[in-house]
Amino acid sequence: MNTRHLTATLLGGILMLATVFGSCSRQSGDFTSSELSLIRDADSIMRVLTVADPGDECVLRAKSRDFSEQALMSEDFAELARLMVATVTHPSQDGVGIAGPQVGLNRRVVAVQRFDKEGEPFEVYPNVSIVWASDSLAPGPEGCLSVPNRRGTVLRSQEIVIEYTALGDQSPRVVRDTVKGFTAVIFQHEVDHLDGILYTDRLSPSPETSDR
Ligand SMILES: [Zn+2]
Repeated sequence: MNTRHLTATLLGGILMLATVFGSCSRQSGDFTSSELSLIRDADSIMRVLTVADPGDECVLRAKSRDFSEQALMSEDFAELARLMVATVTHPSQDGVGIAGPQVGLNRRVVAVQRFDKEGEPFEVYPNVSIVWASDSLAPGPEGCLSVPNRRGTVLRSQEIVIEYTALGDQSPRVVRDTVKGFTAVIFQHEVDHLDGILYTDRLSPSPETSDR
């Protein structure tokens, strides 16, 4: 083995180590640099994506991913949660729920107004999914901040069980919650967003357009 070969071998080893460490230090659940820019560059609220813009629709139709524990513990997540609530409650939006893709992040996070709790607070649920839904359905009117100037009737389960990661003084832990009534409808609408589904996909087809 000559010096040149040795140098090449050493360099190769260092590069391999850098690759290994690089992939270990950044998990897929961590914020990407473009996600951090969206959060850190936001003014007091975030821009709400709509189906009117083809680029926005790509994000609205994509599947969202969970956050890593490290991302959930970061100040950036706390800021994202604040921004999502500020955005959905802003007079220009005046919504009852908003999901990650609607503010440009394909991440499993929703902010929902808890009409079933005293004071009807907005709460933020990261890594949320619906693990059970009742067979009993009820129709109700729905609209969406990302589908301007439309409303429609959707059948939704009257009771659901959600699972999400609770943040508090302790380290993050997965918990479940049973939700009923209108709040359950909001959760179903928002969690649909995380799977790229819009409420307009769930409208009953009108008789003249139906071929099923
Ligand atoms: Zn929506």
